[in-house]
Amino acid sequence: MILDNFKLEQPISYKYLINSIRKNKTSHAYIIECNGYTKGYDFSIAFIKFLLCPNHYTNLTNCNNCYQCKIIDNHNFLELKIIEANGQWIKKEQLSELQKDFTRKAVIGGQKIYLIKDAEKMNQAAANSILKFLEEPSPGIIAILLTQNINQLMDTIISRCQIIHLEKDSNNEDKKKKIAGFIFNSQNEINEFLENDAEFFIEFIMEYINYFEKNKYRTIILKNKKYLEIFDDRKKMTIGLQIMILLYQDILNYILDKKLEYFDNIDIIKNISLNNNIDTISSKIKIIYSVIENINYNVNLNLVLDKLIIKMGDVKSVQNSWN
Ligand SMILES: [Zn+2]
Repeated sequence: MILDNFKLEQPISYKYLINSIRKNKTSHAYIIECNGYTKGYDFSIAFIKFLLCPNHYTNLTNCNNCYQCKIIDNHNFLELKIIEANGQWIKKEQLSELQKDFTRKAVIGGQKIYLIKDAEKMNQAAANSILKFLEEPSPGIIAILLTQNINQLMDTIISRCQIIHLEKDSNNEDKKKKIAGFIFNSQNEINEFLENDAEFFIEFIMEYINYFEKNKYRTIILKNKKYLEIFDDRKKMTIGLQIMILLYQDILNYILDKKLEYFDNIDIIKNISLNNNIDTISSKIKIIYSVIENINYNVNLNLVLDKLIIKMGDVKSVQNSWN
């Protein structure tokens, strides 16, 4: 795992850490708060690799290939110590030995890092010992405290660390709920949608837009019939269009290096993003909105859908002429 793997899942922390390294403003102590994020440990190791990899200042991505990166992956890097609870607690002895060792070696130079897993498990004595270390940091030593919940750490420790809040994983179900919440107002309607149509509708719209982005106007001939069989009245048609808006919203998120809010299928989103930029996506979203607004005044849904594809197809050709 390298830090770039977390670009989409943890965009804020990712950007913050990359920038701090770029500006050469790393801290001597970090608290990484997981908030239920399941890959906090992997994230920490990726960050450590980024800190130590000799190539990060030049290309700002992990090579993941150099000697340094490899020995960290293989747990052979002697200057990285990982401390975890021995039984229920992390005890003072576990820390004081490490600190002595590190302080001695730090004189020689090179960066040393210690990572405390489940830092909330430090007993009082251990916490005090860490606090002392944070109060008088030694050059070249970086402390990383990984915790599920920062509120279980002492305020005096918190105030001496740079804090990285990771965002909770949002799973597929959460994403579907978000889509439903965008479309419907009442909880009953949301539940009914989630139980019945959500999965099928969402999948169909993904496939439909993916097809449109590749084949443009051919969509009218080859996909619209199917579309109208599924979304066969004004209400359903509107639902389909709303899902479309959220899909483009997520493609925009992808382009802006933000977290995907509604969809999981990263390959499709990535592919579509290659044909688009911020302008084309906002134009398409506007077109879809105007179709939704006018849907009740149109007698022929078939025509509405054809027009949508023609208008959105035109957006793409405008973008191509810029390139
Ligand atoms: Zn490297």
